[in-house]
Amino acid sequence: MEESQQLHVVFVPFPTPGHMIPMVDTARLFAKHGVNVTIITTHANASTFQKSIDSDFNSGYSIRTQLIQFPSAQVGLPEGVENIKDGTSLEMLGKISRGIFMLQNPIEVLFKDLQPDCIVTDMMHAWTVEAAEKLGIPRIHYYSSSYFSNCAFHFIMKYRPHDGLVSDTQKFTIPGFPHTIEMTPLQIPDWLREKNAATPYFEPMFQSEKRSYGTLYNSFHELESDYEKVNRSTLGIKSWSVGPVSSWVNKDDEKKANRGHTEELGKEAAWLNWLNSKENESVLYVSFGSLTRLAHAQLVEIAHGLENSGHNFIWVVRKNGRDDGENSFLQDFEQRMKESKKGYIIWNWAPQLLILDHPATGGIVTHCGWNSILESLNAGLPMISWPMFADQFYNEKLLVDVLKIGVPVGAKENKLWNSVSVEAVVKREEIVKAVKILMGSGQESKDMRMRAKQLGGAAKRTIEEGGHSYNTLVLLIDELKSLKKSKALDEKAN
Ligand code: UDP
Repeated sequence: MEESQQLHVVFVPFPTPGHMIPMVDTARLFAKHGVNVTIITTHANASTFQKSIDSDFNSGYSIRTQLIQFPSAQVGLPEGVENIKDGTSLEMLGKISRGIFMLQNPIEVLFKDLQPDCIVTDMMHAWTVEAAEKLGIPRIHYYSSSYFSNCAFHFIMKYRPHDGLVSDTQKFTIPGFPHTIEMTPLQIPDWLREKNAATPYFEPMFQSEKRSYGTLYNSFHELESDYEKVNRSTLGIKSWSVGPVSSWVNKDDEKKANRGHTEELGKEAAWLNWLNSKENESVLYVSFGSLTRLAHAQLVEIAHGLENSGHNFIWVVRKNGRDDGENSFLQDFEQRMKESKKGYIIWNWAPQLLILDHPATGGIVTHCGWNSILESLNAGLPMISWPMFADQFYNEKLLVDVLKIGVPVGAKENKLWNSVSVEAVVKREEIVKAVKILMGSGQESKDMRMRAKQLGGAAKRTIEEGGHSYNTLVLLIDELKSLKKSKALDEKAN
């Protein structure tokens, strides 16, 4: 096909793993369905996924990365620090965010040069809705979490059911939901709880969604059809569910191992040998995603909680760069776990897809990041929910109250990083209790495991030819092709 006739879609991910990984996977799916795809990003971010783009390109798909320069020197950051996950202090996080903000200009220039037929941009790039309007092309809003959480954000923002409560721990019900979902003000993000300096940053994202052509979700119809419906009927926003994208494009082990990370992970990795030595479904995988940095007091409680539970576990621990005695505590703990063979620590980054798919893995402790939830579901695993910040408390409600595949550990406070108050630290006894329920042989665990497996089956079927997500992706691409055609006809007629 001549390039000018081929549908050209530009993707602009937001540089944090939880947003970038699913968007790159989605872009690759578009290319595999005949679309000419360009992904705009900076050098260090591209290095985390370029290998898969090259491999797709060499297989004949029309996909490439368009690099732009991260303004490291201007914001005072060392070379290569271009991703939110690289921030080790709030000051550094501020600089990275400023650098990302400064990319607006070069991205807009590229839009003009490339003249794509459509842009798919992360929810955090609210400004792109105007850029698309100027170019007369559709902007598709990419929302990297659940329909459930998006509806919760919109409804709580609109109706403010938490205003006027006597305390931050009093419960309110989310209005407009088909299920009774109760939360406390402390569990919603602080910018939504009360207007603060961050509110003008977040609110426009949700407003920009309403002005977009529609929203693309890494979710699937069979998982949250009630909220897909609420989203469309009440919010009136067009949407497409094309997930889970990760298992759709990362089918072989090498792709699964290296996804979202620069370093190669060897086949003979020690974690794999350790998992291979364990019985089926006997290991709990413990991960808090790519951004969470836990307070020392919380790390200590987790270590003791996991040890006291008596169950096998793999725990991904992110190094914090502090010198507060934490390292020696964790090293001692790691040594003890090596001797007892009960636990295994992975430092910084784990090959999550491979661990979740391993037969020895029987459950996960998750911070309720949407990608981790989908990946666990895909592996048919029930979860212990331990939300930390942002949308994660909503996702917990979906897991526990709607899907009934999660045991809540009892997290109380929505706070970024290690700023959770002393009272909000989850104690070891609570951790032991949740682990025993999830990994034990009681009926509750059996029922959750069965439901998780059913959803895992649905997650696999929906991306097969003829499945719901598969058909939706094909229909969306057809719709965009028709738009391109009618635009060309209009231009010819004028
Ligand atoms: N991830 C991974 N290894 C890690 C930590 C994270 O592969 O050690 C991946 C994980 O599989 C998921 C993404 O990074 O795809 C994290 O996204 P999620 O939405 O779960 O959480 P976030 O990091 O955005 O809080």
